[in-house]
Amino acid sequence: MTSPRGSQGVVGPARTRALSTSGRAAAQAPGSRRRLGPEPSGSRSPCTRFRLFSSLDRAACVLLRRSLPLLPRSDPAMPAPQCATCHKARAALRRPRSGRALCGACFCAAFEAEVLHTVVAGRLLPSGAVVAVGASGGKDSTVLAHVLQVLAPRLGISLRLVAVDEGIGGYRDAALAAVRRQAARWELPLTVVAYADLFGGWTMDAVARSTAGSGRSRACCTFCGVLRRRALEEGARLVGATHIVTGHNADDMAETVLMNFLRGDAARLARGGGLGSPGEGGALPRCRPLQLASQKEVVLYAHFRRLDYFSEECVYAPEAFRGHARHLLKLLEAARPSAVLDLVHSAERLALAPAARPPAPGACSRCGALASRALCQACALLDGLNRGRPRLAIGKGRRGLDEAGPPRDGEPERAPAPDAVPAF
Ligand code: SF4
Ligand code: ZN
Repeated sequence: MTSPRGSQGVVGPARTRALSTSGRAAAQAPGSRRRLGPEPSGSRSPCTRFRLFSSLDRAACVLLRRSLPLLPRSDPAMPAPQCATCHKARAALRRPRSGRALCGACFCAAFEAEVLHTVVAGRLLPSGAVVAVGASGGKDSTVLAHVLQVLAPRLGISLRLVAVDEGIGGYRDAALAAVRRQAARWELPLTVVAYADLFGGWTMDAVARSTAGSGRSRACCTFCGVLRRRALEEGARLVGATHIVTGHNADDMAETVLMNFLRGDAARLARGGGLGSPGEGGALPRCRPLQLASQKEVVLYAHFRRLDYFSEECVYAPEAFRGHARHLLKLLEAARPSAVLDLVHSAERLALAPAARPPAPGACSRCGALASRALCQACALLDGLNRGRPRLAIGKGRRGLDEAGPPRDGEPERAPAPDAVPAF
């Protein structure tokens, strides 16, 4: 009998690779920055297995190691079974979603087919769409861009990469370097928009200094999430995009649902379903093609496609409330493996009582964006910063602002919550 995780994961040679290299991965100096992905040609690693494994970030390594193998550990010499799809190659993993033993190529093909189905069935990206991919350099947006690059001819879409430079010293520069490598590899146009240029010189580091006195460092992610949404919209318009896609996966969405439950935010729960927003108030339509793909499968796809991505936690991330939701979700998933997708689907089925429905949003008096108050979120936050009163902007003393949270896709602009971390 297997554990809840026992029916998932890397099997056969890949399993041996994971087990034999985990010690070396763990021995890496904590906090050291790594260039991920295949090593440059010319530098020969003595061990191909380790080289493969080193293309994964620490979190991905943990995910893969925890994905227990198909074969019993007591008999590592036992050959992996044949791939359940092609019946030719040896299986390299068990799909977390279905439990089927697949080779890497068949897994990647199935993953791409499922994303295609999500996009087509949801009518997310019409033929002829110019799609701005929110590129952060992380695994989710890297996998999203790669899959859409593969699917673009069938979907009839063209892609543009749009990256946002939040101005976080020692973090974003390295991530942007990964985005530039990806753009070169896929030969996609890349546009970088910076907070400093868009928001009157404000960078996230400057915001952090400004909000430090409030004693609420969690506020950084509130500012960042709101401003990044605005920056991505601006960047997408700059490149002539008709649609925006972001790399939120099922785990991200489940965390968001969980956070809304924990906050008792019924309005957001009721609006949280669907795969994106159609573009209210003149905003570009947004969607999340990976919303039904688990984080494990995203990591496995990046592994088998040997994608080069950056994974280093933002310096402001440890304070975010999302970390608690993530931890809770892992516990829930260990007890009930379907918890992630169950939470995602639960948001689609929730209905809001008429009395709890928020008023119809209007237009921001400053920028014209959708807003439920006189100013939209971004303008309200910038207003507070420019007046030297960031606490006002994050809702100190204003109950309404305290209770709200940064908008997710599909939501009109509302006042922000103090510590949400919308993934890019
Ligand atoms: Fe921005 Fe994410 Fe860093 Fe928070 S953790 S400050 S949302 S980049
Ligand atoms: Zn505004």
